[in-house]
Amino acid sequence: MEKRKQIYEGKAKKVYETDNKDFLIQEFKDDATAFDATKRGTIIGKGVVNNKVSAELFELLESKGVETHFVKLLSDRDMLIKRLDIFLIEVTIRNIVAGGMAKLLGLEEGIVLKEPVLEYHYKKDKLHDPLINEYHIKALGLATDDELRIARERSFEINNILKDFFKKRSIDLVDFKLEFGRHKDKVLLGDEISPDTCRLWEHGTKKKLDKDRFRRDLGGIEEAYQEILKRVVG
Ligand code: UDP
Repeated sequence: MEKRKQIYEGKAKKVYETDNKDFLIQEFKDDATAFDATKRGTIIGKGVVNNKVSAELFELLESKGVETHFVKLLSDRDMLIKRLDIFLIEVTIRNIVAGGMAKLLGLEEGIVLKEPVLEYHYKKDKLHDPLINEYHIKALGLATDDELRIARERSFEINNILKDFFKKRSIDLVDFKLEFGRHKDKVLLGDEISPDTCRLWEHGTKKKLDKDRFRRDLGGIEEAYQEILKRVVG
């Protein structure tokens, strides 16, 4: 399938229509932004890593019965996906305290949580994607009861699958962000699962192998992304 009209350009991806209205192509860029795009940069090779890592993880999830928008890899930077009506919600799952949770609650990064924490954030850049709860989501009609239940249950399932997968590769899955959407009356996992959207710490050393190296100017960014590609795709 080929790219037709570009219908969206985000911070890290472009999305194109195809000949078939039910399918889109997402192209992963090397552009990186953080702190609501006030920090911008390029991470060479990031698009290729995120495309291949996402594809591998979507295939893993599909093999375990979790439905995703992924259809197939088309090239180093392009994947074919099912068209979703994306909910205006981000689902975050946390296993270890870091980032926004450390800040919000005044906690040390690195505290291992007794059980996973699920958060919803309202996709509203101008307001820095504020934390919301299920009542906000239902009251604003961002998703129905059923859709929300499916997204919530899948998110915990995905956490179990990914935690286990990364553990085998000596990586601790600290936290990650998911996006879900509707496709023909089904709720599917969309977007990407990559070092841009997960915090991944090398087990033992706690070395950050994710976008925090860019956010926090830690250096060795390209190498960290390549290391994740190597461990995930092998
Ligand atoms: N995250 C994301 N997109 C966002 C915000 C967060 O992919 O717009 C990911 C982030 O990489 C991390 C997890 O979601 O793995 C939790 O992020 P957090 O809420 O701690 O926010 P941050 O500290 O990144 O601002």
